[in-house]
Amino acid sequence: DLSGKTALVTGSTSGIGEAIAWAFAAQGANVVLNGFGDAAAIARLKTAMAEKHGVTVVYDGADMSKPGEIEAMMKKAEAEFGAVDILVNNAGIQHTADIEDFPPERWDAIIAINLSSAFHTTHHALPAMKRRGWGRIVNIASAHGLVASAQKVAYVAAKHGIVGMTKVTALETARDGITCNAICPGWVLTPLVQKQIDALAEREGLSGDEARVKLIGEKMPTAEAVTPEQIGGFAVFLCSPAADRITGSALSIDGGWTAQ
Ligand code: NAD
Repeated sequence: DLSGKTALVTGSTSGIGEAIAWAFAAQGANVVLNGFGDAAAIARLKTAMAEKHGVTVVYDGADMSKPGEIEAMMKKAEAEFGAVDILVNNAGIQHTADIEDFPPERWDAIIAINLSSAFHTTHHALPAMKRRGWGRIVNIASAHGLVASAQKVAYVAAKHGIVGMTKVTALETARDGITCNAICPGWVLTPLVQKQIDALAEREGLSGDEARVKLIGEKMPTAEAVTPEQIGGFAVFLCSPAADRITGSALSIDGGWTAQ
């Protein structure tokens, strides 16, 4: 039960982040949503979550590539709720290309959104967590935080980086009632992955279904994707008393991907 706590989930207008936000709301936590998207759809999401679970849900459209907007979001959340008790660094983007073709501006954007934003949110969240003597930071890394794939230089670098940041955060907060862990999912069927399925289908002349099975089965022995709800459940577990001594870990939820 997380009632009275406030969870801020970056990139929670879609996919994994949205499922994590729903999972925390279901536990009674107030939620700060963040991410891009259609304003009316976001307003509907906000109202649906608040009404279904009887919690306060606010939205902040801060761009995770802009440190000034991140600072303003964190200050606003703290002013409203006293602290961000649970911080989930989830916002992320992807771009695939060989290194020599990889646009430098895509490198900069991926490092900013998938890695640096988590530094900025953590930097601003820690003082209030320390004041309250309780905090949970969950960084959404990836199987690509532990192993690599070709054509994902910026993503793999950012995800390995966030696993390192997770360890430092855990060490610096070990005696403050705060834990920090990274969740490392395998494939999850979200818009981020759909683009890669579509590209594979186009490249190899496959149907959408064939491309999906091929993409997932190449990496995951289960040949079944992880669901956003499973990641939401994992994030909630990391905020439960059973997980109080789990900190600084990179935890896989990948259908055996990194067991190979
Ligand atoms: P998604 O595209 O469905 O959602 C991404 C979210 O981030 C959206 O809400 C989007 O609006 C938001 N976002 C993007 N750029 C932003 C910015 N500059 N500022 C604020 N918000 C921004 O993707 P997803 O698959 O749900 O990915 C979420 C996280 O999970 C990412 O960090 C991703 O790397 C990670 N992940 C995904 C998979 C997968 O297979 N889908 C696997 C492992 C890890």
